[in-house]
Amino acid sequence: MRGYASILIKVLVTLYLSGLCVSQDFDFFYFVQQWPGSYCDTSKSCCYPTSGKPAADFGIHGLWPNYNDGTYPSNCDPNSPFNPREISDLTSSMRKNWPTLACPSGSGVDFWTHEWEKHGTCSESNLDQHGYFQAGLNLKQQLNLLQALTSAGIQPNGQSYSLSSIKDAIKEATGYTPWIECNTDTSGNSQLYQVYLCVDTSGSNLIECPVFPKGRKCGSEIEFPSF
Ligand code: 5GP
Ligand code: 5GP
Repeated sequence: MRGYASILIKVLVTLYLSGLCVSQDFDFFYFVQQWPGSYCDTSKSCCYPTSGKPAADFGIHGLWPNYNDGTYPSNCDPNSPFNPREISDLTSSMRKNWPTLACPSGSGVDFWTHEWEKHGTCSESNLDQHGYFQAGLNLKQQLNLLQALTSAGIQPNGQSYSLSSIKDAIKEATGYTPWIECNTDTSGNSQLYQVYLCVDTSGSNLIECPVFPKGRKCGSEIEFPSF
């Protein structure tokens, strides 16, 4: 009897531990960057952050854990609030590279709090708060989307470009296929709003996207507004 009990306990412990090891919290990240000109020229409008008008460059929206089936987890850990002290060495870079454009004007802390609590808490198994924001900053640095586009002759000047030329330019520069999200300006024109690229679960290596987001489609010709 004692023998059976101890075997049973061993089996249960092994099952539990293997469950812990294989259980994956998410499959990959979307790294999402937004074009400020397209955030600001919609009917909703925008507000510049308290530190002033951001540079005319793509800004980070977020680093979003996702599943291969297209669904995603959110708000995974209510016991892990955003703590600005943990990233105090990153805030000046975040003000430049991860600026908030929502109204009313803010420093960015509300935006970063939202991104951490909704998305970052779902990748805590791999990245703590500092690692999460650092990963976003490193990816942006590594990518330089604006340069990828301008060097292909695609400039933020209010002209229209074919969606395929935009995708090709980003693929050419980064080696990976992006997904483009459009929104519409006050005249109803479809325009380049956000660029999605996929990143492995470490948060540092680009990968081909296992799945692209659904909906939020662009026209075949889209505007690239100035900012
Ligand atoms: P929307 O519905 O405006 O496209 O997205 C609203 C928010 O839902 C996004 O800012 C983001 O927080 C979340 N979201 C939308 N699509 C995805 C997705 O495919 N993956 C993840 N992880 N979050 C998403
Ligand atoms: P999501 O859930 O879409 O990841 O995050 C969007 C939330 O962040 C919204 O509540 C939005 O008001 C806020 N937010 C603050 N600043 C920005 C910004 O610059 N861009 C976007 N897309 N959302 C922002």
